[in-house]
Amino acid sequence: MKDSKKIFLHTYGCQMNKLDSALVCSALKEAEFEIVDSEKEADAILINTCSVREHAEQRVISHLGNLKHIKETRPQLVVAVIGCMAQRMGGELLKHPAVDIVCGPAQIPQLIDLLKEALFNKSKSLAVTENILQHPLENQPLENFESSYDRDEQIIPGQAYVSIMRGCSKFCSYCIVPYVRGLEISRPPAVISEQIKRLAGRGIKQITLLGQAVNSYEYKTGDKTYCLADILETASIIDGIEWIKFITNYPTEKYFEQICFAMRDLPKVCRYLHIPAQSGSDKILKAMNRMYSCQQYLQLIEKAKNIVPNLSIAGDFIVGFPSETDDDFQQTVNLVQKAEHKNCFVFKYSPRPGTIGEKKLKDNVPAVVKQRRNVELLCVQEKISDRLSKEFLDKEVAVLVEGPSKKSHPDEGKEVQLVARTSTDWIVVFDGPKTLAGQFANVKIVNSTPLTLFGQLCS
Ligand code: SAM
Ligand code: SF4
Repeated sequence: MKDSKKIFLHTYGCQMNKLDSALVCSALKEAEFEIVDSEKEADAILINTCSVREHAEQRVISHLGNLKHIKETRPQLVVAVIGCMAQRMGGELLKHPAVDIVCGPAQIPQLIDLLKEALFNKSKSLAVTENILQHPLENQPLENFESSYDRDEQIIPGQAYVSIMRGCSKFCSYCIVPYVRGLEISRPPAVISEQIKRLAGRGIKQITLLGQAVNSYEYKTGDKTYCLADILETASIIDGIEWIKFITNYPTEKYFEQICFAMRDLPKVCRYLHIPAQSGSDKILKAMNRMYSCQQYLQLIEKAKNIVPNLSIAGDFIVGFPSETDDDFQQTVNLVQKAEHKNCFVFKYSPRPGTIGEKKLKDNVPAVVKQRRNVELLCVQEKISDRLSKEFLDKEVAVLVEGPSKKSHPDEGKEVQLVARTSTDWIVVFDGPKTLAGQFANVKIVNSTPLTLFGQLCS
């Protein structure tokens, strides 16, 4: 069926969601829908949602509240909620007066048909996975859908995400991911490698391999078991691919050395390790069901730094986890001071429905204390980031340019302010031609703030 209905797609959440949105975009275009830039001109609005923290869900609920009003004057408008929140809330979400389609992450291959049904027959639909924790989602339609990514829009010029696994089976007590993305399953190495080759053929220079615990990648075939290091090696020999990144890592010994050796020995593998610690208190780590102690975390990153020169490390922390005392928090501060991350993401604990944390633990750290710890931890990290960023002053670095910064105006002349990243994931801002988007460049660093390096384009 040929159609040119207009679709607006709004994405909340992590890189997995960005990838899913890119896949959906690709499928929509192939089905001859038109992607538009504003809700005003859209026949259908798709909202790709995140459930990791309550705040992310509240933003979607308030977005849906606005859409309910808009639908009073535009009753033909179709609203589809896709992603993690769709899977978590299912039928409850379909009762919302603004919502026509609820479609979980594993059902996105059905989305085009559901949209057509809603646009032309006014039918509502619910497509989610029943009993998501019973078995890993061995889902051929999803696999086929994923493999069609090479026909898609690029998220950032020259770069693409490739998910090498789906779901997660770690069951950290605070985390909703296993309940909305299902149990961990690794994609076959041959499929991953084919996909990367096709992306390279379309001019992609950097791929980022995605997995909730990407270093747990494991695929058995015959008598060989493939791990992430094998995937890195295979990706490294693909012509056209220059930089390979992978996120996010779980602090575990298994395969860790092999992965570090791959970072050290394979020039295309970027020396960047995002490895969340979540807390520096062993008591809290245990309550979080994280399978390591603070000391083991520090030993692991020490090992990585010893194997991989100039490694840059990033982390995540949750503050205000149930029963976190000032002393527990101080241990987290101590860990941050020792670990010397390039940057850290700090989140205030948010109980998520259905998780062990929500069912068994009392959310007993007051909001003001969570806020105070959040600010304090970021301040501690800021000093470290500031010191590390100053080490770049007067040095020349290679960057992959993402595009014009938010500050640059489209009507500016040939030179605009550009945003780029180093292979170690430092953000670099400098003036240069727009045509550099998606290209490598060499930049001399002349100034720095804790999170940004400022440079001049080398000729
Ligand atoms: N799989 C990755 C990992 O294990 O590090 C990332 C998972 S999650 C999408 C990203 C981050 O959100 C986590 O590292 C954690 O710090 C934070 N997070 C997850 N659940 C949370 C919750 N209930 N409250 C606050 N922060 C949370
Ligand atoms: Fe969530 Fe833990 Fe899995 Fe990360 S490893 S996705 S935090 S359950």
